[in-house]
Amino acid sequence: MLDLHTHSTASDGTLAPAELVALAERIGLTALALTDHDTTGGLPEALRAARGMPIELVPGVELSAASETGAIHIVGLYVDHANEELEAGLAWARRMRDERNPEIAKRLAALGVPVDLERVAEIARCGVVGRPHLAQAMVERGHVATREEAFERYLAPGGAAYVPKRKLEPAECIRLIRGSGGVPVLAHPDQTGLEGSELERLVAELKSCGLAGIEVYCPSYDSSKTRALRDLALEYELVESGGTDFHGDAKPAIRLGRGFGSMYVPDALLERMSLAAEGIRKEGR
Ligand code: AMP
Ligand code: FE
Ligand code: FE
Ligand code: ZN
Repeated sequence: MLDLHTHSTASDGTLAPAELVALAERIGLTALALTDHDTTGGLPEALRAARGMPIELVPGVELSAASETGAIHIVGLYVDHANEELEAGLAWARRMRDERNPEIAKRLAALGVPVDLERVAEIARCGVVGRPHLAQAMVERGHVATREEAFERYLAPGGAAYVPKRKLEPAECIRLIRGSGGVPVLAHPDQTGLEGSELERLVAELKSCGLAGIEVYCPSYDSSKTRALRDLALEYELVESGGTDFHGDAKPAIRLGRGFGSMYVPDALLERMSLAAEGIRKEGR
């Protein structure tokens, strides 16, 4: 069993990279991809932790791409975290966060629900700061009862303190991932807000930019959803992927490897994924 989409304290997960690897090994995963938002900062620790363990650590990252509908998230698998262009792109994305977070804090203060950004940074434990950390700080201050409520009332689109974030274009995300030898994978396709022929049009467009994989196993998918996505993968020659988008206690309903409990990403996917990475690296040479 695999899990090819997870987060650590390097972004908005709550387990440190080494803790995540230890948990993955304990539950018997064959391979784990660490795919933090906008950073490869957790990879050295995760790779070190996996050394000598019967588990493969797939170095990854998750980028948010500009979209007019829902969220287009591109996961890169087998990325090279020493690649300068990729790192420059990630640094840009983190800078956009650094511009956005104080803006959100300003709006929250104006609404009478102030948060202390220093406390937010502490909650983020040196990781990339995101809205989940702001939500946690709001819970701590007693402004809201739960992080969900913080998102609903304040932080999510339509919320009173929502500030959009500047994002890279999808084509640029794909180019950066491929340039570092990684396989670009469309993450949780349901979160694009598109379905049926509209989703297909997006996939076709991303494919023309170099998309090479798509998540067909996600926690919320039943077998018919997975089948529909597998058909799409087949049609557009995309490697199937799957992961839980595990965030630890930040998303307590999602278990590593198992999602809501019944998810199972088969080992067989990994060989095709690593072959795809090999192909992309050869092309780059
Ligand atoms: P950011 O990266 O700052 O834009 O925050 C996005 C992250 O917030 C996502 O990766 C999720 O981990 C989390 N998130 C997004 N929407 C919600 C929500 N409605 N409730 C809880 N967490 C959310
Ligand atoms: Fe997240
Ligand atoms: Fe995502
Ligand atoms: Zn994710």
